[in-house]
Amino acid sequence: MKLIIAAVSGVALLWVFFRPPFGENIVHLNTHQRIVALTFDDGPSPPYTHQLLDVLAKHDVKATFFMIGNRVERYPETVRRVIAEGHQVGNHSYSHPVLGLLPPASVRREIERTDALLRHIGVKGEIVFRAPILTRFLPVAWVLAKRDRAHVSGNVWSWDWTTQNPDKITKTVLRKVKPGSIVIFHDGKGVYGNATRLGTIAATDRTITALKRDGYTFVRLSDVRH
Ligand SMILES: [Zn+2]
Repeated sequence: MKLIIAAVSGVALLWVFFRPPFGENIVHLNTHQRIVALTFDDGPSPPYTHQLLDVLAKHDVKATFFMIGNRVERYPETVRRVIAEGHQVGNHSYSHPVLGLLPPASVRREIERTDALLRHIGVKGEIVFRAPILTRFLPVAWVLAKRDRAHVSGNVWSWDWTTQNPDKITKTVLRKVKPGSIVIFHDGKGVYGNATRLGTIAATDRTITALKRDGYTFVRLSDVRH
């Protein structure tokens, strides 16, 4: 009996740790209309971010970029271009650790350091936040909830961190996208060094073309109330 109680409480604790039952986790936009939000993680990452910006400008589409603080420091000009072209900039931590496994004080530092960098470079309004590898575990949920701040996840994973084949990425996204989807792409290289993002860029071009044909429009995250 004791063993069963221990096992049940163990599972419950793990559940609370990995799926904190408080705070807000935004998975999709609050709409039934044919509206989607394209999001790009792990930048700024020249030259890819710039090539992506060219594609978005060609289609007159605005997107949201979740940036890593230490890359914001390294490539401020790229960040300025993202802002100048009307895209939204979000916080994706300072050093892209497995954030959910860090103590709350470290989580807070990772978030606040990047907030400060983004403000300094000219980001106005709401700074949305997405944890690296979507690790909205207990310490992250706790720190965000104390500031009444949501975590932005997504419901369409492009899986572009596993392949840079544009056909595969486009098919994956188009199969899953629906009204209100938040699509997760990567213009940056994450922690893996020098991976190309040309596949993501080509897939973004094709995805936008296909979705526009289906009557979709594109928004930044803060354009839709959540
Ligand atoms: Zn990331």
